[in-house]
Amino acid sequence: MSAALDVRSPLSAVLEDVPLRVDRDQVLRFQGYKKGIDIPDAAVLSLFDEALALGESLMEPRVVYRAAPVTGQGPDLIEVGRERLRIPEIGRLWGPLEQVGAGVCTVGSAIEGRVRELWDRRELPLAVMLDSVGSAAVESLAEYANDVLCQAAIAAGVKATNRISPGYAGWDTAEQASLFRLSPGDPIGVALNDSCVMTPGKSISFLVGVGPEARVDHYFTQCRRCWMPDCVYRRAPAAATVRR
Ligand code: SF4
Repeated sequence: MSAALDVRSPLSAVLEDVPLRVDRDQVLRFQGYKKGIDIPDAAVLSLFDEALALGESLMEPRVVYRAAPVTGQGPDLIEVGRERLRIPEIGRLWGPLEQVGAGVCTVGSAIEGRVRELWDRRELPLAVMLDSVGSAAVESLAEYANDVLCQAAIAAGVKATNRISPGYAGWDTAEQASLFRLSPGDPIGVALNDSCVMTPGKSISFLVGVGPEARVDHYFTQCRRCWMPDCVYRRAPAAATVRR
């Protein structure tokens, strides 16, 4: 099992055989349940258990990661050689960086394939629940990768920020292409089409900032899910974990 990523790795590094835990609340959120307001009944929980077991037997969590030197920074810009990443407020949010780390993660295509089969057989409740399990699994995987990078950074005497992804927080989805040039998805079988859509669909790309002065003070969500004991940078107690 590959249990760590080098946060400064200039070569593509793959993390696989991840002991991933799928968050039930997140699956139910994908199903439209609001935590503390909508209470799933026994039939829904039974369906969740069935979909979770199926999803866990089908998913193949893998992450590819690569770091590259930052050559310029502005209030809303990170330059990495010829790549210009236009991300609102990023200078203030992340502070000075030495590198960025680009990653792509996926749980593979088997879950999507089984969802299509179930859909064709009109087993719709299980199809929809399994699709939500796949979505929650890849979210957990991205969190897991962020935890691993944060821990690796601390060991290397630097810091790794929270992850961000094209299409969120004002970062244009079109810059997905830049992210894939920094860290191609090929080593884990993830492709990007001309519309910046990833295949398999249960995939997430992300960027982190790396450096001794990188800011991690808006890291509360990450720390709540991180399993690292006695971390001196911890911003919030661990409430749950994405690790089994
Ligand atoms: S506890 Fe927080 S700061 Fe420490 S390694 Fe985990 S995510 Fe990073």
